[in-house]
Amino acid sequence: MGLYDRFDRRIDYLRVAITDRCNLRCFYCMPENGIELKPHEDLLSYEEIQRFAEAAVEAGISKIRLTGGEPLIRKDAVSLVKMLAATPGLSDMSLTTNGLLLPEYGDALKEAGLRRVNISIDSLDPETYQKLTRYGNIERSIAGMKKALSLGFKAVKINTVLIRGINDDPEDFIKLIYNYPVHVRFIELMPISKWDPNLYVSIDELKAKLEDYGLIGPVEGPVGAGPAKYFGFKGALGTVGFISPISNHFCGGCNRLRLTPDGKLRPCLFSDIEFDIKSILRDNVSKEEIILVIRDVLNSKPEKHEAGKLEKLKRLMCQIGG
Ligand code: SAM
Ligand code: SF4
Repeated sequence: MGLYDRFDRRIDYLRVAITDRCNLRCFYCMPENGIELKPHEDLLSYEEIQRFAEAAVEAGISKIRLTGGEPLIRKDAVSLVKMLAATPGLSDMSLTTNGLLLPEYGDALKEAGLRRVNISIDSLDPETYQKLTRYGNIERSIAGMKKALSLGFKAVKINTVLIRGINDDPEDFIKLIYNYPVHVRFIELMPISKWDPNLYVSIDELKAKLEDYGLIGPVEGPVGAGPAKYFGFKGALGTVGFISPISNHFCGGCNRLRLTPDGKLRPCLFSDIEFDIKSILRDNVSKEEIILVIRDVLNSKPEKHEAGKLEKLKRLMCQIGG
C-alpha cells in the first residue's frame, strides 16, 4: 500500500536524528558554546526508535538514515544500527557523519548492517576546515573517508555546504574525485540556524566554475542519489553532485520524514510543524496506532517549502537532523 501524502508523493525515507550533541561546532549549524543539552530521558531510547521504525517500515518506509548532531557520539550507536538494519522490509540503512569517529567504529558499523555513509567535509584545507568547524582536524575526517572506502561501503558521498569566500573554490574537491572514488555533493546553505544571505552561493554560480576542470556533463547518480544531480569529469574516479534546495527546490520529489532526537516527527525540514511521537511511544500504543499517526502527520506535509521567506526555524539543524 505504501505511504502517500496529499500531493501523491510517495514517502519511503525516514531520517532519524539520534542526538543533538556534536564533537564539532560548524559555525552555520551550532553555536560555539553548543546548545542547551536535553536530559538523556528526553531523548528517544534505542528501543523506542526501533518500535517507531518497525511501524514506519510496515507502513511503507524502506530507507532509514541516522543523523544528528553527530550520531557516532551517542553511546553504542552501533547497536542501534544493528537493531534497525534487522527490520524486515528495510532495504537501506545509511548514516550521515562528520567522519571523525569512522576509523574507530567503521568495522563494527559495517558488520552491524550499515550500507552507506555520507561524510560532511566542507573544506580540505586544514586551516579553513578548522575555522569552519571550530575544533576540527581535517586529517581525522579524511581518515574517516579512507576508512569508509576501505570497508567497501557503496557510493561514499562527501557533503560540502557552500559558503561564500570560505569554500567556494572547488579545486581541492575536484582533485579529491581524481584521487578517490567518492561523490562530492555541493549543497546550498539553507536558512536554518545562523543565516547570513551574504554567505549563500548558488549551485549555478559554483557550476560555472567547474567548466574549467574537465566537466563532461550529467551522469547517472550513485546509489541513493536522492535530490542531487550528478556530473562526471574526464578521467575522474568519482563524481560531483549538486543539491540546490534554495535556488531550485526539489519539493515535488520529496520522499522523506524526519524524527528528531527528542521524538518529534517533522513532515518538512523547513517548517516548524512537528508531532509528538515520544508521548505516544511512552503510552505504549500499538503498532497500528503508530501507523495511523504517521499517516496523519503526512496530511500536514506542505507542498513546497518557503525557505526564501523564512526568518529562522525554532530548531537548529543539529536538533532536527540534516
Ligand atoms: N554531524 C553530522 C554531519 O555533519 O554530517 C550529521 C548532522 S549534520 C546537521 C548533517 C548535514 O547538515 C551536514 O552535511 C551539514 O553540513 C548540513 N547542514 C547543517 N546546517 C546546514 C545549513 N544551514 N544549510 C545546509 N546544510 C546544513
Ligand atoms: Fe556537528 Fe554536523 Fe552540525 Fe557540524 S554540521 S556542527 S559536524 S552536527
